[in-house]
Amino acid sequence: MFKVLIISFLIPFASHLLFMSNNQEVDYVASTTVSVGSVTTPPQKLTFSDPNQLLTTVSKDVSILGFIPKDIVSLSKLGYPEQSARSVVVSDLERMVDEAKKDGVILSIVSSYRSYDKQVELFSDYSKNIGEVKANTFSARPGHSEHQLGTTFDFSNEKREGLTQGFGLAPEGLWLAKNAYQYGFTISYPAHKVKVTGYTYEPWHYRYVGVEMATYLFKNDLVLQELDFTVYK
Ligand SMILES: [Zn+2]
Repeated sequence: MFKVLIISFLIPFASHLLFMSNNQEVDYVASTTVSVGSVTTPPQKLTFSDPNQLLTTVSKDVSILGFIPKDIVSLSKLGYPEQSARSVVVSDLERMVDEAKKDGVILSIVSSYRSYDKQVELFSDYSKNIGEVKANTFSARPGHSEHQLGTTFDFSNEKREGLTQGFGLAPEGLWLAKNAYQYGFTISYPAHKVKVTGYTYEPWHYRYVGVEMATYLFKNDLVLQELDFTVYK
């Protein structure tokens, strides 16, 4: 059974979106049509370069500069008053948190949307303490963090304990690893993909990519970066 999901964006032709950051001007080309493979079909070549798109590339090599999502909302109605995220994520996030609760798993969120400026602060603190190269094995340089997209979360347990790799074996980590894809979330930095992502294992860090893509990645044991993305700058 082959099935290809075609997502057509409303943009009739490749449109150019300008982002200004630190006096730099970068031209992002948004794609018109995107084909995403089903769990049995490999994805077609994808072109994602608008950070507003859920699947846009952001990695050690690809920066979204000073991108600021326009639809950031507080997550206080979900019980996370200190957290915020893009509105597009909220209903699936709420569904996931509720379903986890039914299984006796309480998910807390210790980090969500993080601005460029916040990342500057964070990364420079880490760099001062342990050096830039080491810091970059677990913390993104400003402009390179998935948290800046507003669709990425660091989950923890009810006690909001620190983010450690042991979380992967804790009930919350195990629940997420097994179920998060059904709500559109994908683990960005699995233990066996360090060479692909450049980041150490982060069992708490999940990015929202929508249910179709999260399912595809889960069933095929892939991370987003392994898909054939092309970014034009
Ligand atoms: Zn994170």
